[in-house]
Amino acid sequence: MAVTKEEEQSRQRDTGRHVIVVGAGIAGLSAAFRLQQTGCSVTVLERDQHIGGRMRTAAHEGFRMDLCAIWLTRNYREMLQLLSDAGLEGEIRHSTDWIGIVRAGRIHPLRLHRPTDLMRTGLIGWRSKLRAMALMWDARHATTLARREDVSAAVYADTESIRAYSSRRLNRELHDYLIDPLCWAFYLASPDDLSVVNLFSEVKLAFGAPCFSFTYGIDTLAQHLAEQLTVHLNTAVTSIQQRDDTVKVTWQQPGKTAQEDHADACVVTVPGPQVPELIPALAPEQRRYLSGLTYQPHIGVHVGLDRPPGPPYTAPYVVVAVPSTEDRDLNYLTFDHHRAQGRAPAGKGLVSLHFRPTWNERHWGRLESEIIDEALAVCRRALPGLARHIDRYRTTTMVHRQRLALLARPPGGYRQMQRFIENLDPQARIQFAGDHLSLSTTNNALATGELAARATRVALQSVTPAEARPQRVHHRGETP
Ligand SMILES: Cc1cc2nc3c(=O)[nH]c(=O)nc-3n(C[C@H](O)[C@H](O)[C@H](O)COP(=O)(O)OP(=O)(O)OC[C@H]3O[C@@H](n4cnc5c(N)ncnc54)[C@H](O)[C@@H]3O)c2cc1C
Repeated sequence: MAVTKEEEQSRQRDTGRHVIVVGAGIAGLSAAFRLQQTGCSVTVLERDQHIGGRMRTAAHEGFRMDLCAIWLTRNYREMLQLLSDAGLEGEIRHSTDWIGIVRAGRIHPLRLHRPTDLMRTGLIGWRSKLRAMALMWDARHATTLARREDVSAAVYADTESIRAYSSRRLNRELHDYLIDPLCWAFYLASPDDLSVVNLFSEVKLAFGAPCFSFTYGIDTLAQHLAEQLTVHLNTAVTSIQQRDDTVKVTWQQPGKTAQEDHADACVVTVPGPQVPELIPALAPEQRRYLSGLTYQPHIGVHVGLDRPPGPPYTAPYVVVAVPSTEDRDLNYLTFDHHRAQGRAPAGKGLVSLHFRPTWNERHWGRLESEIIDEALAVCRRALPGLARHIDRYRTTTMVHRQRLALLARPPGGYRQMQRFIENLDPQARIQFAGDHLSLSTTNNALATGELAARATRVALQSVTPAEARPQRVHHRGETP
């Protein structure tokens, strides 16, 4: 790609600037990649021994298990752009977008890129189908995606819970068999506890666009970015302090004494509730907001099978969601061998079981073997046919626990987020990124990383705020 004269000048101003990025999840890696592209010298410090954070894939006995995020859609504009800029377009694979929803033990399929499936499904009756059109309409016009650069559109709709919205605009059947399972599967939370903005965003994101994946795992982008960056794993940052024109970062590696470095700027991408312990100088209201964010815990039980399950699971489901009226503990299952070749060896199957947060809390400290036994017991109760197949063909199992998994924003949560963002100093040398500044998705986390990279460049005075400012999106009825 040709480099303009302005880009070359700003690159020269950035060259020699040192930026430390805390966290090697997708927000941190996208921030680091964009800063390095402009000439900054970047170091990424990651507490874990793996790259990717919640966009991670684990290799386990021939299987490639996506441990948290699984779902990428063609609506992920920033991710597609970054994939292209990083030379990874050729790695993108089409992925099935079938979800199944269980009702009375039967699985009803929906292809998300075909909203007309909702009109044909036997999952809900015709009255509910008509009501579903109201939801599509409200989601289309009430909000754009809750993004950091324009949260006003989200705030505009942030007035009630999903349950209250369902009672007011939809009906019981639609709520129980579509809204409830999608909320639990997307946010690990009950519709009672979520702002309706989450529902509208989910509908806008999920419906109407095809999905994509990568052959060897969802971490393909993260791994590729990390290969081009200096990343230190097993490095837990313990303190970040701004001192005039530098930022002092202290970290600890296992078995070593604490170390520190001085950088021109720092981008902090750890989940919101972990930020206050790293930055002693946070204002009290910032500290209160970040500490008060509710992330749900997640346990995934990933089961490698000698052969994939037979009918009805031969349909190319990515996710089968279980409404809370069908089972109190089992939330959703993923059929990973359907997502892309390469997740399971040829002829084998990979199925993952995911539970509601109350089950996750109850089992958090238990031994892995106990979690597996209990997980299979739940499956036997909720989906006995599938459980019989798992019991017969299970060859390997892996349990993954993610304490801060998904952010459940209640009504009013987007207003609080807006206040927090408005009070941030756009020219500070410590910038923030991560899904606590947006909706919990890989693409939104990535977009916050890119915004933090731009803000850092403004703070380092290599670009003007006008050059760094993204296009603002206006919602319906608002004067630009
Ligand atoms: C179960 C589950 C399913 C999901 N499904 C989807 C999906 O299908 N599609 C989708 O788009 N999104 C999905 N998401 C959401 C998505 O995974 C996240 O929103 C996104 O990956 C968050 O990225 P991040 O970089 O903000 O945070 P993270 O990925 O959490 O990265 C933060 C990093 O900071 C590191 N860190 C923390 N403390 C320190 C420290 N003191 N020092 C150094 N490093 C530190 C962490 O180890 C971590 O690697 C899912 C999430 C979960 C949990």
